[in-house]
Amino acid sequence: MKFSQIAICYMKIEATTKRLEMTDYLARLLEITPTEIIDKIVYLTQGKLYPDFVNIEMGIAEKLAIQAVSRATGKSEQEILRDLAKTGDIGKTAQAFLIRKTQATLFQVTPLTVEAVYETLDTIARTSGAGSLDKKLSLLAGLLSRATPLEAKYIVRIVTGSLRLGIADMTVLDALAIAHGGGKESRDDLERAYNISSDLGHVAKTVAEKGLGKIRRFTVILGKPIRPMLAERLGSIKEILEKLGDKCMAEFKYDGERMQAHKKEDHVTLFSRRLENITPQYPDAAELVMKHIKAKNAIIEAEIVAIDVDTGELKPFQELMHRRRKHGVAEAMSEYPIALFTFDLLFADGKDYTQEPFLTRRRKLEEIVIKSDRVKNTRSLKVDNVEDMERFFESAIEKGCEGIICKSTSDDSFYQAGARGWMWIKYKRDYKSEMTDTVDLVVVGAFHGRGKRARTYGALLLAAYNPDRNVFETVTKCGTGFTDEDLEKIPKTMRKHMTSTRNIRVESTLKADVWFKPAVVLEVLGAEITLSPIHTCAMDSIRKGSGLAIRFPRFTGNFRVDKSAEDATTHKEILRMYQVQLKNLSQS
Ligand code: ATP
Repeated sequence: MKFSQIAICYMKIEATTKRLEMTDYLARLLEITPTEIIDKIVYLTQGKLYPDFVNIEMGIAEKLAIQAVSRATGKSEQEILRDLAKTGDIGKTAQAFLIRKTQATLFQVTPLTVEAVYETLDTIARTSGAGSLDKKLSLLAGLLSRATPLEAKYIVRIVTGSLRLGIADMTVLDALAIAHGGGKESRDDLERAYNISSDLGHVAKTVAEKGLGKIRRFTVILGKPIRPMLAERLGSIKEILEKLGDKCMAEFKYDGERMQAHKKEDHVTLFSRRLENITPQYPDAAELVMKHIKAKNAIIEAEIVAIDVDTGELKPFQELMHRRRKHGVAEAMSEYPIALFTFDLLFADGKDYTQEPFLTRRRKLEEIVIKSDRVKNTRSLKVDNVEDMERFFESAIEKGCEGIICKSTSDDSFYQAGARGWMWIKYKRDYKSEMTDTVDLVVVGAFHGRGKRARTYGALLLAAYNPDRNVFETVTKCGTGFTDEDLEKIPKTMRKHMTSTRNIRVESTLKADVWFKPAVVLEVLGAEITLSPIHTCAMDSIRKGSGLAIRFPRFTGNFRVDKSAEDATTHKEILRMYQVQLKNLSQS
């Protein structure tokens, strides 16, 4: 298949803001794609080569892309940089320079194929070690010199992680339903398959090759992470009980890191909340799963928590974050020991449990976990009244937990993969105080510091995620709560995300001194949410021309490395917090 077919489709998608049209273009592309490569087209359309849980990334910095464009076109890097400052888009700049080259030389190109482009990009991604930068550069420059200007635009955007077609997972599923599922009615089945495999390419290939029947019979696959079920939040125990039909199973909400363990005979793979493979960071957790899960094959979920082995006491999340490192794992393992608190079971010995009600899953979980000091099921209690729940909540806090999660015990309390729903409702300590709550926000920009902070940032510009439009809306400027160590570390960590202009997915009326690609998530404690003419979060929702802002934000010390930018607190959650705050204020 010619790569130009993809490039033309991308161009059409880019030219429209209407989701239906986007879906249609993509559906037509998927219809004509040979089934053997449909998975690759799906990954590429989202600017990837593999599903997210495969740890292979393109990793080309803007600088290297500039060098490649320079080499492919014979123009100097300075010229390219000058153009880039105007366009703010390395793809457009590459396209413009290739047009000039084409006009100058009238050269003939042998058309690039999708297979060839994918293979080269894959080689670029897998190249590592000494001399790898040079090799990546020459591979990319080689590809660009064979590409048409339009193809070059998208190749460069793909390798620099800035494709930005706005094709969300849900749009791919819509397009697949039209192209291969026999129509929109097949959408829910396809979505379920995606939610339990986290692999859109695999879902696409399955439906294209084997039809919808196979998708309907789709079950979880050992080795492919299931998208996590998430909890909603409410501000009072009374409301939670009402919402769950006056009874539920309350569980301690441990303050650690979520892990989904896939045990396949003598092999264990651990996935994080955002579906990264975290097995290398937690060999001890993998070993605990191996030893303490009786089933030969199983998928279970647990919270990894840092503990004091002498007292058995739980330690806070910050302690555990020392374990999030690539080097010195053995030292970190002995310095920061962990325990596992298992809370769900999704697969065991050939049976998919995702369609079973919660109590059935929990029963099976209790059956297969061999308990010890280091592996336990989460503390849980069936409750049907406010007083018992209050007491349970207090004991959770006393034991060092964040609060409780109340889980529906109804017959339809299935595992809702990939959804934040009302089957699970969390209740954390900070909701008790009227205007205090933590949120997880994305760093999208920074302002230079002065005086003592002259060599670092004075404040970070933080944004909430708007999943409806796939954009990041600013909500606050945060300059407090950072330790000296944080202040030194942040500019270094952020350097690789720095961009020369505001990222197209960031909506901001403020002009930051430095802009970042949305990637890093920080936990912030706010004192109050107010209407704001400056910040764009939930703009116009309460009042025309006003967004929402968090006042007196303070960094809690938690870098939420377990969250991707798209896992940040959403504009709707902030809106809801604002509404809860208003309600509390009017009642007090
Ligand atoms: P938070 O920042 O509050 O942890 P979140 O967006 O990461 O929120 P939620 O779905 O809102 O996730 O809350 C559930 C999270 O709580 C899970 O992802 C898991 O890591 C953690 N957790 C701790 N104890 C439990 C438990 N008993 N059952 C389910 N999840 C638990």
